[in-house]
Amino acid sequence: MKTLCGEVIEFLESIAPLHLQESYDNSGLLVGHPEQVVKGVLVCLDCTEPVMDEALSKGCNMIVSHHPPIFYGVKKITGSNLTERIIEKAIKNDLMLYAIHTNLDNTLANGVNEQMARKLGLEIDGILKGMAGNPNPMVGAGLMGYFSDPMTETQFLQRLQERMKATVIRHTSLINKPIQKVAICGGAGSFLLEEAKKAGVQALVTADFKYHQFFDADGDLLVCDIGHYESEQYTIELIQSLLSGNFPTFAAHCTGINTNPVQYFT
Ligand SMILES: [Zn+2]
Repeated sequence: MKTLCGEVIEFLESIAPLHLQESYDNSGLLVGHPEQVVKGVLVCLDCTEPVMDEALSKGCNMIVSHHPPIFYGVKKITGSNLTERIIEKAIKNDLMLYAIHTNLDNTLANGVNEQMARKLGLEIDGILKGMAGNPNPMVGAGLMGYFSDPMTETQFLQRLQERMKATVIRHTSLINKPIQKVAICGGAGSFLLEEAKKAGVQALVTADFKYHQFFDADGDLLVCDIGHYESEQYTIELIQSLLSGNFPTFAAHCTGINTNPVQYFT
């Protein structure tokens, strides 16, 4: 029995339909053809050259990444930058590249944020910010959840550090309140600060907060920036387990490479 790339795509898009991606995004099949037979899939956050070598060494001819390796228009393929080199390497090695990005961010069931909530032990309350023009309560940005028991802010930060393997947590001043209701958003979620305040959560956990945005918390809640890679790392095992559970005809692997481009000098 053989599985075609198109069948893998159909399955992934049954979880995270492409129309849920943001307008700036470039999710979907980026290199390859739906008629190609899938021999193995490697799942990663970032499709880098070492990850492509890993795919080849593991006998995988398809890479499913969270972030799209091709994001902007490409006018030539001469190896002059990373995107061009990745396209060239994929075509030369017959590797299919597929990205499941903001469509998976905007999906509640089996999405990036549900997975993050599971890891943190949060009971899910619902989507934090619904999608414009879409009344579906199962799609949108970020989510709200609550812990069965409140914890102190220090306990909460410790839990974040342990469960999200965060080397550093950049956070606003403590608010001297127990933490029970929390908003989370994997990746860059500073745009959700006002929704988090309106939702009355005690903390917002996300990444890529800028200096001036920290001021906007204004003592209303605890903003925790745990790092972009850290916030999304469990998306890899999420996608891998979904594929493994659905396709007995090929192996789906998690990458063994930490592709976090940010290093910490501690
Ligand atoms: Zn991301």
